[in-house]
Amino acid sequence: MDEAIAKRPTLGAWLSEYDAIEREYLDALAACGISFAERDAHVAAVDKLRHRLREAGARFLNGGASVSTGFLSSACAACVGDCGSRTFFISLRCNHDCYFCFNPNQADFEEFCVRDTPWRDDLDAFARTCSQVTHVGLTGGEPLLCRDEALAFFERAHALAPDAHLRLYTSGTGIDEAFCAAAVERGLSEIRFSVKLEDGEASVARTLADIELARRFDLDVMVEMPAVPGTLERMKRLLAELNERGVHGINLLEFCFPMRNWPEFERRGFQVKNPPFEVLYNYGYAGGLPIAGSEEACLALLEFALDEGLEMGVHYCSLENKNRDQVLQLNRAVALDPLLYELGDDCFYHASKVFDGDVAPVRRMLDGRGGSCLVEEDGRCLTFHPRWESDAAELGVAVARSWNVVEEHDDGPVVRELKLQVVDGTRLPW
Ligand code: SF4
Repeated sequence: MDEAIAKRPTLGAWLSEYDAIEREYLDALAACGISFAERDAHVAAVDKLRHRLREAGARFLNGGASVSTGFLSSACAACVGDCGSRTFFISLRCNHDCYFCFNPNQADFEEFCVRDTPWRDDLDAFARTCSQVTHVGLTGGEPLLCRDEALAFFERAHALAPDAHLRLYTSGTGIDEAFCAAAVERGLSEIRFSVKLEDGEASVARTLADIELARRFDLDVMVEMPAVPGTLERMKRLLAELNERGVHGINLLEFCFPMRNWPEFERRGFQVKNPPFEVLYNYGYAGGLPIAGSEEACLALLEFALDEGLEMGVHYCSLENKNRDQVLQLNRAVALDPLLYELGDDCFYHASKVFDGDVAPVRRMLDGRGGSCLVEEDGRCLTFHPRWESDAAELGVAVARSWNVVEEHDDGPVVRELKLQVVDGTRLPW
């Protein structure tokens, strides 16, 4: 491969530039003391699990960033790409102090720990500007610390959008029958409990009791929690316990380092996945960086659910999945030339490229077959639609895949290439 790239100096220079950007990013994090797993250490195990899950009929969405089996909340299906879905919080106050909480990354965190958000105005504005409100979530902090406001929130949301799916995120604090009945009356459709394994078995038992209580109401009862490396066996037992209680599904989150509290992660032996992102970008989601081993645990739990025939749904929601909505919203706003780009199911705009001496033969091939292309860099780079990728590869050239996002700048939309990778299977004559 090195020899082939040496013969294509422009391709080599571009690949080096992307490598340098990633190295700089990782070095800056390492300089803060954050440690990374060995590069690509997760790939073989994850690929095997994904392969087995595909064979077993699991559902892959958003370019594989979401993997699920059985019941999938419509709120999860709407999470990427549905402009009618929004999650609000009344305040960020919480009675827990999870070392992995990313709320301190939210804008105005301190202020919203002591003062409520203007949620009525925010909700009204959303309903006014959104053509069809489909899903409204209430998260926190812990929303049940202000249960009257939480009920008022659902009442208002239901009045504004009577058909919208309303859901609540809670650790269960203080939940009781009166609250559930009042919330259902106000249109609540789903409760998602977080189970705090790190708080010990007594805490888990309390949450299971809260879940049993919620199951008595006309609600979808879900659990949403990160899969922390090292907890796989306890998580399997938890899935069985939830299944016994008739829980509709569990949303397994990729466990993340929220860019704070690294010593807490370090003393538990955690490392950041390397590389942390398939496509490096300044994502807006506050979750942070994925912890190595969490993805494998999530996928292993999906496999466990299938093997055991659990009735409840299991959904792995990766950090990539959280980031995909941002990418899709950006890319949907501007339609790029469909003869050159395709909007991939991973939400990025994809194009294919060849460089240097490969430009002429691929251009001839495209001209002969009626394919479009764009010549750049004084003739040293040719961009074309990925549908021609295998035809180009047949010519023995080095085809590279390009991942892009369209950013809105002051002077108009700008296509920003984020990643370039020589396509596997390119038949290079070296
Ligand atoms: S329960 Fe949730 S909001 Fe509260 S500290 Fe833990 S992660 Fe943060």
